[in-house]
Amino acid sequence: MAIYNPASRCADEFINHDEILETLEYADANKDNLELIHSILEKARKNMNVAKDHCTVISHREASVLLACEDPQVNEEIKKLAREIKLAYYGNRIVLFAPLYLSNYCINGCVYCPYHAKNKTIPRKKLTQDEVRAEVIALQDMGHKRLAIEAGEDPKNNPIEYILECIDTIYNVKHKNGAIRRVNVNIAATTVEEYRMLKEAEIGTYILFQETYHKESYEQLHPTGPKHDYNWHTEAMDRAMDGGIDDVGLGVLFGLDKYRYEFAGLLMHAEHLEAVHGVGPHTISVPRIKRAADIDPNDFDNSISDDIFEKITALIRIAVPYTGIIMSTRESKEVRERALQYGVSQISGGSRTSVGGYVNEERPHDTEQFDVSDNRTLDEVINWLMDNNHIPSFCTACYRAGRTGDRFMSFCKSGQILNYCHPNAIMTLAEYLADYATPDTYDKGIAMIKRELELVSDPKVKKLAGEHVEDILAGRARDFRF
Ligand code: SAM
Repeated sequence: MAIYNPASRCADEFINHDEILETLEYADANKDNLELIHSILEKARKNMNVAKDHCTVISHREASVLLACEDPQVNEEIKKLAREIKLAYYGNRIVLFAPLYLSNYCINGCVYCPYHAKNKTIPRKKLTQDEVRAEVIALQDMGHKRLAIEAGEDPKNNPIEYILECIDTIYNVKHKNGAIRRVNVNIAATTVEEYRMLKEAEIGTYILFQETYHKESYEQLHPTGPKHDYNWHTEAMDRAMDGGIDDVGLGVLFGLDKYRYEFAGLLMHAEHLEAVHGVGPHTISVPRIKRAADIDPNDFDNSISDDIFEKITALIRIAVPYTGIIMSTRESKEVRERALQYGVSQISGGSRTSVGGYVNEERPHDTEQFDVSDNRTLDEVINWLMDNNHIPSFCTACYRAGRTGDRFMSFCKSGQILNYCHPNAIMTLAEYLADYATPDTYDKGIAMIKRELELVSDPKVKKLAGEHVEDILAGRARDFRF
């Protein structure tokens, strides 16, 4: 029998089933224990603005108690604290990105994904390098600077060489003032050697969703193909870090299994990365299962309500305060608006989830990986973010300045991120306004930049950022960073 050990390299030990069951029992036993609950919230609150050693500030057990608690007042307090923590570490910035689907060829049998090998109704498509270039130009023309590339698992059609070639193509498209400055990669679990190649290709974050931490469910949901191997999949982040990738992104596909089990597993995974590699996950994504070609979300009976979704987001923010939280266009404008307040720090905008979808404007639903709930253009998303007093940021500075992995984390933990990220957000917003904004977005953006520059506390940084903004808006220069 596997024994729980966060520092083990074996998935059965660091995502230990018995430990999760005991955690859920402990959470049930204490869900009305208001004294304990308040002490956990106090512990999380105290950690704010103090340099810390760990990526998690409350444990998976403590966070699970908060998740189990149904007291409305406590739930309000959780959201309030999440909001305070978000503002303390990230300010009012929201980083923007777009997914780029390279290929939907896939040999896996994931039962919730329309790319599964047995789906004969979906047209299979893999972008040529010319098509990648055309997609990137379309994305640059929207204003994007940061992409997450996505592909099915198929060693013949999408080998690592193909992925590397695409990354090289993406970084080398220079169209008007556009540039993709960070490519994050969401491809199937692979070997240390291939992770090393991705590192050498200068990727940003390696993202891999766990889908579900429940091993038995996982094996049923992935009946065929290499992804069937739970341990290979769950230990992928360790191999990625062994291959030199500093920033890794975790995620659960909510709806597949019981959310409380998943939540405990997710935090145990973060604790494991910290225990073994000395650094927690760079990001955590919170996707929920969506309708897609030959996929009906109602076939999965563990779907979570918007309220629970928001609470999970808030608790991730509280438990893992230095980790970015990513929310995609799987969520509607209304849900996004609320979740943004409770700790989400990165969102996609203007997304197409089909292969070739950015050039092919008529949205070919037949190759989409899932239905998009937020169909607004990037400009509409930016306009709306500003209406809600969030600064849209296209910043990629940390990664380009080598502030990744533990260097990013110590930077973030000491509160430094605000002195750099806030002016960087302002300057990248100015780039967006100068090159891509509609008139209304432009006017709102200029007003926001004026307001936000006033809030920069270091007078030297304030002066310099103001000068850079002027240079950008006048078209004299761009791509400044602190
Ligand atoms: N093939 C790679 C893998 O297996 O990890 C890349 C990931 S896939 C292109 C991106 C993610 O989309 C999956 O990890 C899964 O969580 C999510 N996904 C698949 N089907 C979905 C659906 N019907 N609704 C929402 N998300 C889905």
